[in-house]
Amino acid sequence: MSPAFDPAALAREMEQAARAGGWTIRHLSPCASGPRPWLHRTARTGPDAPRVYLSSGIHGDETAGPLAVLDMLRQPDFFAGFDTTIFPLLNPDGLARGTRGNAGGIDLNRDYRTPQSAEVASHIEALKTLGRFDAAMMLHEDFEGIGAYLYELNDTLPPALGAGIIAAMGRHVPVDLRPVIEDVPARGGVLSRKDLVAKHGAIEDRPDWPEAIYLSVHHTRVSYTTETPKPFPLEPRVRAQIAAVQALLNALSR
Ligand SMILES: [Zn+2]
Repeated sequence: MSPAFDPAALAREMEQAARAGGWTIRHLSPCASGPRPWLHRTARTGPDAPRVYLSSGIHGDETAGPLAVLDMLRQPDFFAGFDTTIFPLLNPDGLARGTRGNAGGIDLNRDYRTPQSAEVASHIEALKTLGRFDAAMMLHEDFEGIGAYLYELNDTLPPALGAGIIAAMGRHVPVDLRPVIEDVPARGGVLSRKDLVAKHGAIEDRPDWPEAIYLSVHHTRVSYTTETPKPFPLEPRVRAQIAAVQALLNALSR
């Protein structure tokens, strides 16, 4: 059993931190177990700042991502140089139950091509108002992971960036160095678009789009899906997620 996780309480804490930080708070369609805030803040450095997208909490049995977002929101300067949009709690009913899917058992992160869930339909309605991002990062966990790894859909930033993000995560949790992860060839914990395409075909042809494919098709040429290993203690997993976001922001500001 996972310890009880209260997404409504976490939403309150996130909104409190966001208000203090000057974020605009909006909401997707609510769930029985809590609201689904989403947050936007322009950069303090002006209108030409990179546009960044961040999301977490789409799989309810993966708690490090939402907790990492709360920690980052409480750091006043963490996103100061970026036009930032965050969807931190996409699946409150799953988070309350500790289940991957929503209350109806739908894996929301396979529902972005022809949405069956109210959660994803509402998310896409909001996304349609948002334009392009310079980069996106989606924070996930692997319940049987042995170390950190990530999916990299990156057509513009330096190809070494995935390795840099993994190195940052590796200061907090081990890195998954297996040559094959989730049936896909991996290099130092990085699963690249090239290898994903070689294994599964063109990603946009898949019938069950995750959020990352929707974003890749409609909103950004650079996306990362981080995975921390759930068998490890929570605190270093949260630190690893924060380090991944920081590494991405550092690359964008160069
Ligand atoms: Zn996940």
